Amino acid sequence: MTHYRDLGLSNTREMFRKAMAGGYAVPAYNFNNLEQLQAILTGCLKSRSPLILQISKGARAYADQTLLRYLAEGAMKIVGAAEHPIPVALHLDHGDSYELCVSCIETGFSSVMIDGSGLPYDENVALTSKVVEYAHKHDVTVEGELGVLAGIEDAVSHAASHYTDPEDVEDFVGKTGVDSLAISIGTSHGAYKFKVKPGESPPALRFDILEEVERRIPGFPIVLHGASSVLPQYVEMINKYGGQLEGAIGVSEDQLRRAAKSSVCKINIDSDGRLVVTAVIRKVFAESPKEFDPRKYLGPAREELTNLIIRKNREVLGSADRA
Ligand SMILES: [Zn+2]
Repeated sequence: MTHYRDLGLSNTREMFRKAMAGGYAVPAYNFNNLEQLQAILTGCLKSRSPLILQISKGARAYADQTLLRYLAEGAMKIVGAAEHPIPVALHLDHGDSYELCVSCIETGFSSVMIDGSGLPYDENVALTSKVVEYAHKHDVTVEGELGVLAGIEDAVSHAASHYTDPEDVEDFVGKTGVDSLAISIGTSHGAYKFKVKPGESPPALRFDILEEVERRIPGFPIVLHGASSVLPQYVEMINKYGGQLEGAIGVSEDQLRRAAKSSVCKINIDSDGRLVVTAVIRKVFAESPKEFDPRKYLGPAREELTNLIIRKNREVLGSADRA
């Protein structure tokens, strides 16, 4: 058993307490490879933001769970040696079984999500409670989910969303003992979040549901998944250099800024990073067709991703200068 504290990691409890009091949200960024991790780390150190580093089941399958874990451990050496260290949580994104959560906790994760949102309510309660019971023995924090987000993200895929029913939240939080709750208020996984005609705006997030949740569980940390904005400049860049992402659309940054000021304490951003990396690599390939050194296209992609992360922390989540 490797305990996360021995790696210099933090759980999310204190992070969320401060985020709630300060009216901002802690960013949760996913990584699958070295360059993504470097960009996330540099971006959060430079903007002095707390950080939730996320590993999904898909990332573990892609990059090897052992290697990813040691990459995170290496990242913590850099954080520890930094002039202004930042708190970092290592979080399992969309854990789908008790066994997976246990395995992550045993190898140094400080936080896990158990996603029972696709199960009948009572089964979600039972599975989440079981994970919480084990996790809390090791002072690891747990994120649960109520309501289903549409869209595709690695192994997680749902054709249709259904909003979180605020009537369930008090009972769920009380029975399971979770530390934070992901809810569905109109965000969606992936780069095609909404079907809208050209020139039309995507539907607004259901702030009425969020407010009702806040009324029922005041001061309880809420999580938003699928909160990329699918920034048009990167979609245009991808399409300009040979990509085909017509109709890709996300959640507006204005709405996320508003959510970050509420009891939303964690905002997950994955697709925006994927789009930036793809856009830059396509540009380098189009402009320098003779290039074949991966550092020459992964390097610029990493730099642009770092800039995106700094801007998100400063302008959208409000987490910059909070570490
Ligand atoms: Zn998600």
